[in-house]
Amino acid sequence: MPPALCMRCNAQRAVVKRPKNYHKLCRECFLAVFEDEVHHTIISSKLFFPGERVAIGASGGKDSTVLASVMKTLNERHNYGLDLVLLSVDEGIKGYRDDSLETVKRNAVQYEMPLKIVGYDTLYGWTMDQVVETIGKKGNCTYCGVFRRQALDRGAKMLEIKHVVTGHNADDIAETVLMNLLRGDLPRLSRSTNIVTGGSSSDVKRSKPLKYAYEKEIVLYAYHKKLDYFSTECIYSPEAFRGTARTLIKNLEKVRPSAILDIVRSGEDMARLTPDKNENACACDDEGSGGCGSATTNGTANEMEQLEAKLSKTNDHAALETEIKTNGQSSSDGAVKLPVRPRRQKEQAAAAPTPLQKLGKCIRCGYMSSQDICQACTLVERLNKNRPEIEI
Ligand SMILES: [Zn+2]
Ligand SMILES: [Zn+2]
Repeated sequence: MPPALCMRCNAQRAVVKRPKNYHKLCRECFLAVFEDEVHHTIISSKLFFPGERVAIGASGGKDSTVLASVMKTLNERHNYGLDLVLLSVDEGIKGYRDDSLETVKRNAVQYEMPLKIVGYDTLYGWTMDQVVETIGKKGNCTYCGVFRRQALDRGAKMLEIKHVVTGHNADDIAETVLMNLLRGDLPRLSRSTNIVTGGSSSDVKRSKPLKYAYEKEIVLYAYHKKLDYFSTECIYSPEAFRGTARTLIKNLEKVRPSAILDIVRSGEDMARLTPDKNENACACDDEGSGGCGSATTNGTANEMEQLEAKLSKTNDHAALETEIKTNGQSSSDGAVKLPVRPRRQKEQAAAAPTPLQKLGKCIRCGYMSSQDICQACTLVERLNKNRPEIEI
C-alpha cells in the first residue's frame, strides 16, 4: 500500500491519524493544526490581555510541558505580549515529584522561562510522603488536591501574578463532567466546564487553554515536537471514582472517537440549562486531579504507556505508524437536551454545602477563604492531631 499523503498539504507523507477526526497529517501539519486549535481556544475565549503576566502550572508531565511549549510558540507567533513564568508545586513525593521537578528545571532552560517552586513542606509543614505515612493511601488525593490548589494560588501571589494556566485537557474535563453527572451535581458540573475558573473563590484566575485538546494528541504533539517530559504517574493511588469515570470514557472513545468532545460540549450545554450558578462555591473538585498529571487507573495508564512506547519505537519515515486505532464510527446524531432534575433539599445541601458565602480570610494562614478556617488549614489540623509521637 503506498504511503498516504497529508490531507492538508498534499505534499508530505502522513504520519499521524488524528484521534478525534481520523484526518491523516504530516508532522508539520499536525503540529500546526494542534497549535492553531489552541490559539483559536485562547482567542475565542479572550483568555489573555497584552502585557499580562501568566504563570504556567508546570508538573513536568506531558500536559503541562505541551502547554508551556505551545504557549511559548503562540506567544511569539501571534504577539500575545505575555510574560510567561513556570510555577511548580513540590508535593514532597520521593521518586515521583523530585524527578519530575528535574524535568521542569530543564524545561525552564529550554523555554527560557523563570521557574518558581512552592513546596508543601514549607507551606503546610507536611510532605505528601508524610501525609500518606500518617493517613494511608486512601483519600490522600483529597489532601493533595486542596493543598495544590492553594499552593498554586500562593505561588502566583508570591510572583505577583493573577493568572495561572493549567494543562487540563479535554479528557480531564470530560471525566469531571461525567463524575458530576453521576453524582447528580449539576451546579458543579456547570462550573467544571468553564474555561476560566476561580475568579470569585480566589483573586487568582485559572484557565485551561488545552480544554479541547485530546490527551492522545497531547502525547503525539510531545512526541513529534520531541519535548522533554516526565511520564511516570503519581505513585499514590488516584481517586477511585475519577479512575472509574476515566475508564468509562476511554471505553466510549473506542466505539465513538468524538465521545470526549461530545461529553465536554454536552457539559457546556447543560451548564447553560442549569440555573444554579453558585460561583462562590468551592471549585476544588472541578479542578480535577490537577498536578497529579493525569490520575489514571491501571488500565488507562497502560494505554498511554503503550502509546508512548509505540511512539518511541517509531521513526519519522514510517508512514502512519503513529496512527491510533479505533474501531468505531463517528456519527452525528443530534444532541439530546437533558431535562434539569429538580433537587431535593437534602441533595442540594450535600452538593453545595456552602451556598451563601462571603469571601474573607482564614484566621490561621490569612489566605482567602469563605470559611473562618480554610480547607487546607482544616486538613493540616486533622493531620497534626494524627502526627506520630516519635518523630525523626
Ligand atoms: Zn502536511
Ligand atoms: Zn488557612
